[in-house]
Amino acid sequence: MSNSAIRLLERAARLWPERVYVEEEGGSATYAALLARARTIGAALLGDRRPVVVYLPKSIDALAVFFGAMCAGRPYAPVDAHIPVARLEKIAASLEPAYIVTNEALLPNLAGADLGAAEPVLLSALEGAEPNEAGVDAAIGAVIDTDPIYVMYTSGSTGTPKGVTIPHRGILDYADWVADTFAFDTDTVMANQAPFYFDNSTFDIYGTLRCGGKLLLTPETLFLFPLKLPEYLEEHGVTSIFWVPTVMINVANAGALEGRALPRLKNVAFCGEVMPNTQLNIWRRALPHCQYANLYGPTEITDVCCYYKVDRPFADHESLPIGKACGNMRVRILTDDGREAAVGETGELCVLGSGVALGYWNNPEQTARAFVPDPRSPWPERMYRTGDLARWGEDGLIYFLGRKDSQIKLKGNRIELGEIEAAAMCVPGVENACALFDEPHERIVLFTEGGGGLSLRKMNLELKKYIPQYMLPGKLVCMDKLPHTANDKIDRVTLRGTLKEEEPC
Ligand code: AMP
Repeated sequence: MSNSAIRLLERAARLWPERVYVEEEGGSATYAALLARARTIGAALLGDRRPVVVYLPKSIDALAVFFGAMCAGRPYAPVDAHIPVARLEKIAASLEPAYIVTNEALLPNLAGADLGAAEPVLLSALEGAEPNEAGVDAAIGAVIDTDPIYVMYTSGSTGTPKGVTIPHRGILDYADWVADTFAFDTDTVMANQAPFYFDNSTFDIYGTLRCGGKLLLTPETLFLFPLKLPEYLEEHGVTSIFWVPTVMINVANAGALEGRALPRLKNVAFCGEVMPNTQLNIWRRALPHCQYANLYGPTEITDVCCYYKVDRPFADHESLPIGKACGNMRVRILTDDGREAAVGETGELCVLGSGVALGYWNNPEQTARAFVPDPRSPWPERMYRTGDLARWGEDGLIYFLGRKDSQIKLKGNRIELGEIEAAAMCVPGVENACALFDEPHERIVLFTEGGGGLSLRKMNLELKKYIPQYMLPGKLVCMDKLPHTANDKIDRVTLRGTLKEEEPC
């Protein structure tokens, strides 16, 4: 049994040394070449077991650092290359990494940043280091499969991102599951959409690695032009995609599939938010030969814990199930009083199994709240409470029903409204803030107490210092005083009522 996910790359480099593992615009890397690069980088990163932040654009370079960190026995933490420095500072404070690996273009952003003891290092400098084969072998050998492989930061309701910590075992089992479930082989060509700091990318990275397939780092700008995507899939002989529904919806709505046969495309999988049947049906009518699959899972699980292979027609108004648990996982739907929900009854979706995260990095309180002992298990077992509501159908499948809390999904991005409120409170003049999701208009509305002189554009310029672009509000309402309830909380119901007064566009 493997102890570290680097064994997947070692195995692939042994079986298919000269096959191209990953391709990007203007470059590619074979399995053997990527392993050699990773071992060199790993030699330069040897030392203790503190994590490595990977502050690089999505690229073969970033992948080389992920595997390089594994060669040094360290977890990696991918971050967005466009991350606001203030957010990176918060991540550094939470993670206490040893290094922040970056490139010449991004390095100047770190000047003056408070990164604690973390040392910014250039990838080019790591690659110039002396090899240390014995040191790397020893570091890999010392890893056990419950050690962390990566820490991915997701939006936190208190304003500080949460570092979800995934064990090697989660990825090893997930890679097996992906390759088996979708019958991946060396002919698999996967067009990656998910950013590397989003856990959907693990399907692409480790699924292809497991089977000797090819991973295409599809240019990110292409996703702004849905009409061009099918052409790209055709030209590159893509056999599998795993995209967020927002992208699939854009492709369907743009009519991009009309007249496209895409005979090589076999698997169309999606995850991250509700996939509407209206657009799924456009895909199914245009490409009837493909297998469609609805995958479900939060970052706190190694990407996915439930799946449903679409095996019958769905009317536009029907709900698409999220299906049943993946092989290495178990799911429960528990009512508020802790009972197993009966068929049709709403409850919280709870997850057990080897994919469950180790917790939130350096955050025992939040970990203890979300990762709880399973009261039904005769042996100690941890269960992740997703905060998602779900029900069992008569058909034995699980149906997703929404959230228990104020976490939202906007264009596939997970957002805690509290993080936007915390950022707004840092803007000079703002004394209080409340963010709400205006679903019909698909935008976030920010209500502030004070800050009256600010336009939406100016507010967003301020907010961008703290939160990523995708969290920025689409509407700003500045008030002298926010309404309060009798027990002095912000009256969200009244504020929400003001949203209803506007008709959707
Ligand atoms: P993330 O941590 O960014 O992967 O977001 C996880 C959340 O996205 C889940 O807790 C759900 O609320 C939502 N989600 C993920 N997959 C699906 C799906 N297939 N259908 C509906 N919602 C989903």
